[in-house]
Amino acid sequence: MKLSLAIFLMLLAMSMTSKSQENIGFEVSFTEPQAHYAEVEMNISGITKDYTDVKMPVWTPGSYLVREFAKNVEGFSAVAGSKILKFEKVKKNTWRIYHAKSRQIRISYRVYAFEPSVRTSFIDDSHAFLSSSGIFMYPEGKLDQASTVSIKPFKGWEKVSTGLEPVPGKPFTFTASNFDILYDSPIEVGNQDVFEFTASGVKHEVAMFGGGNYDKDRLKTDMAKIVEEATAIYGENPNKHYTFIVHNFYAGGGGLEHLNSTVLGATRTSYTDEKKYKGFLELVAHEYYHLWNVKRLRPVALGPFDYEQENYTTNLWVAEGFTAYYENKIMLRAGFYTAQETVQKLADAISVVINTPGSRIQSASESSYDAWIKYYRPNENSSNATISYYNKGEIIGLLMDLEIANATKGAKNLDDVMRAMYDEYYKKKARGYTDAEFKAMAEKISGISFSDFWDKYINGTGLVEYEKYFGYAGIVVKDLFKGNDTPYLGAASKKVEGSVIISVVTRGSAAWTAGLNVNDEVISIDGIPVEASIDRMPVITSKKVGDEALFLLKRDGMIKSISVKLKANPNVKLEATVDTEAPATKAGILKGWLGNKS
Ligand SMILES: [Zn+2]
Repeated sequence: MKLSLAIFLMLLAMSMTSKSQENIGFEVSFTEPQAHYAEVEMNISGITKDYTDVKMPVWTPGSYLVREFAKNVEGFSAVAGSKILKFEKVKKNTWRIYHAKSRQIRISYRVYAFEPSVRTSFIDDSHAFLSSSGIFMYPEGKLDQASTVSIKPFKGWEKVSTGLEPVPGKPFTFTASNFDILYDSPIEVGNQDVFEFTASGVKHEVAMFGGGNYDKDRLKTDMAKIVEEATAIYGENPNKHYTFIVHNFYAGGGGLEHLNSTVLGATRTSYTDEKKYKGFLELVAHEYYHLWNVKRLRPVALGPFDYEQENYTTNLWVAEGFTAYYENKIMLRAGFYTAQETVQKLADAISVVINTPGSRIQSASESSYDAWIKYYRPNENSSNATISYYNKGEIIGLLMDLEIANATKGAKNLDDVMRAMYDEYYKKKARGYTDAEFKAMAEKISGISFSDFWDKYINGTGLVEYEKYFGYAGIVVKDLFKGNDTPYLGAASKKVEGSVIISVVTRGSAAWTAGLNVNDEVISIDGIPVEASIDRMPVITSKKVGDEALFLLKRDGMIKSISVKLKANPNVKLEATVDTEAPATKAGILKGWLGNKS
């Protein structure tokens, strides 16, 4: 195609206008890592206004709490060449820099990083973990702009591990094509133990910080199995490369998902204990499954993100709960658990939900919406008033999966819904889904209505009908507590500086009705001094339902006595067994539901 010179110049001018983008570059260095500081330099060029607002996010996606990362910033300054620029704070997380006609500015600040978790930055003399949304500022309105990040490791630190794209030929320099990608890419700097494996055609890097009794070859084999099984559910792996950053602590846990990386917490001595090792693999399965569920297939409110305030969604029961549920399916299919073990683990998870009084108060959609003020800000009454969208969502996933397998005689299951949702909303429409769209897809795949299911389990607080759902697949469930007449106090205690202090009072229990309070110091029960957990003392467990126990308490410095009339235990302890003699239709549903090859 040929162009006239006039048209060429016009197009050139247009392209230059549309490309009047700012260039943004960061440099992170560490002069006092032992005091937990990173020094950040932010260079912005191509500025067109006469002032610039730069902002620090207030939260990090995946962890639904306003954490006010600006609280860790100090020593802010800005220059244009050698000229010191005037600036002022105009919001809790916003600095306004006045630079008149200067088109290029350099901003400097320090970040204090001393909160060891998967979602916050931590720096000491051994390493730096940079959780990007608490380290890098963005110019207002420029979240879609690319940036480069250059890391200057402290002396003796030799490695940088991150999911960011490396710039060829420039050591420790990376690019992010927009701020969403930058904020979704944590960075580990230090002397971590790095090893690699390839699975599903993707190169995976594991960066182990903190040492540990792990067997690299075993981890490579087992983590690859998890990657393969997770990828098989969606039929494709969206990444070119993936990074696991693992922080091994004296006692660690938890993880946070990212676009092509994750941060995992682990206990450094746990890898040789079979049960704990499988627990670590479950965490790997959880965070890896997030690659699809939430990082790509996402509720409509979760992206593009507003980094300055809460982003509300009613669908964390899918984003987190279903991810917790799929840990089970992935671990089963990868051969780490048998079908019987998996079924029992799911029965245990149902018991947890039923035994949480808050599950009768708060629905899964409410739990999700209020994550910011309830799940992430628990108090002594949380178990009475709330249910975790992880726990309830895991059970919703289980019930929905069984309902689909039953409706289709084992031909379809929840995998088909998740894959169809991924294809439709992530790949085809390139946007998040609404709650109604998720329901519509479950109905389309199963051919049945999910309206009652939604009313009962998602927007309501209906009791989990475990016998019905497990029954579809020929699984027999027994409540081991049924008929048990041991009395139930409904209060737990802990020892604080030699005193026995009540820590939980359960809704509707004997302790609740009689008026035992959290923070009460228990001196004696029926005149017997207390030492252990009060609910397990023989003075309680030897009584019968309807008997009374006299509590001598100290509350706010005053002595008080309360008589507690013991009630029956309302809790369940479910035992689930796969019935190997079940009729062929049920066996077919079991097979279709679990989808395991064995
Ligand atoms: Zn998760």
